[in-house]
Amino acid sequence: MRLVFFILFFTLHSSLVTFAQGEAASDIVTLQIPHYDKDGKPVTGTLECNKSIAKDLQEIFAELYKARYRIESMRPASEYGGDDDKMMEANNTSCYNYRVMTGSKKKLSKHALGLAIDINPLYNPYVKGNIVKPEAGRKYAKNPQIKKGSMIYRLFKQHGFRWGGEWRTLKDYQHFEK
Ligand SMILES: [Zn+2]
Repeated sequence: MRLVFFILFFTLHSSLVTFAQGEAASDIVTLQIPHYDKDGKPVTGTLECNKSIAKDLQEIFAELYKARYRIESMRPASEYGGDDDKMMEANNTSCYNYRVMTGSKKKLSKHALGLAIDINPLYNPYVKGNIVKPEAGRKYAKNPQIKKGSMIYRLFKQHGFRWGGEWRTLKDYQHFEK
């Protein structure tokens, strides 16, 4: 009896997960974004995001391009096998990634819906108590590149995004979400 219950639960659970993933994936679009790289050279990056924020991101990155704002790398999460730690170490800016929230085992991140973006994660680390991600970003933990009032902060705020640097229980300086 217990086994039957388990199988039933497992089947139901996996079909729900598949459904959610399929739902999210159909809303994802791929954008080609001109930006300046870490050497100040104009390049074109690739960003996967939810179609509902595509226009916002295009407008924000057009302003950042005008200001010659440097984004070190902008490649889809799939090129890193969806490994967020690897992307943070590589200082890769990305949006859509079907994953759970950092520090959680179950709760889906806004990245899973393509509604959150991480900018230059090495210079704008995730800080929770003594935990800093990526570890190499520890030297930026008290002085991240993105600050309240900085140009990029104002652009995302104008477009209705929330900033992880303003969260109370932890600071996720790289993170904007809608
Ligand atoms: Zn994030």
